[in-house]
Amino acid sequence: CGIVGYVGKKDTIAVLMGGLKRQEYRGYDSAGIAILTEQGTIETAKKAGKLQALVDLLQTSPVSPGHTGIGHTRWATHGGPTDVNAHPHLGDGGKLALIHNGIIENFAEIKAELLAKGYEFESETDTAVAAVMLGDVYAQVGDLREAMRLVVNRLEGAFTLLAVHTDAPHLIVAARHNSPLVIGLGEGENFLGSDVAAFVEYTQRAAAVGQNQVVAITPDAVEVTDFDGNPVAIEEYEIAWDA
Ligand code: GLU
Repeated sequence: CGIVGYVGKKDTIAVLMGGLKRQEYRGYDSAGIAILTEQGTIETAKKAGKLQALVDLLQTSPVSPGHTGIGHTRWATHGGPTDVNAHPHLGDGGKLALIHNGIIENFAEIKAELLAKGYEFESETDTAVAAVMLGDVYAQVGDLREAMRLVVNRLEGAFTLLAVHTDAPHLIVAARHNSPLVIGLGEGENFLGSDVAAFVEYTQRAAAVGQNQVVAITPDAVEVTDFDGNPVAIEEYEIAWDA
């Protein structure tokens, strides 16, 4: 039930694992990360159980380093807490990775459409449906921000979504509907989190994301729009943190 995203020059895996650790209090049953590697591929590691199980997996099966990544702790709602059902979920033939907190109420209807198009699903989650759909729409429009807007306009329920694609190696696109998301603003790096605990170790500058907004972060820019693509001004605030 925690989400973290990072674009920048730091050790991305360490930033993601730290961000998940600081959000452990939210509760979860599985954890996973996806890294856009320096080779231009996506590599994931995901595991049911405590964060330590993912730490152990990363020891035995390391993920290549990269400077863009997303991390997730899952509280299973659709499909049991298994390794396969853990996030990230992939789309566009493995070129896209997506994480999700919340519930997609109308996933069965969308899944039926995607199955009819010939797509297959490894996991039983509602999230995998969003991942495959985002990949399908991306393949048509060729822009991750636009694809995210088209997808979220179809989804019902509650969701914070973060997605990366190998075509845009320094970009994370996120969306928020009935579920939390905040931006952490850095110098030559930017962050996303379910709450500021995800990144407070690195920056005290944050910006809220409103209901029904799409966010795109790169190391040097943060863009927010509504679900129709109209730009939204971001309001920066200072995190008051006395821990
Ligand atoms: N509904 C999704 C799942 O069951 C996400 C659950 C969550 O919020 O972690 O995989």
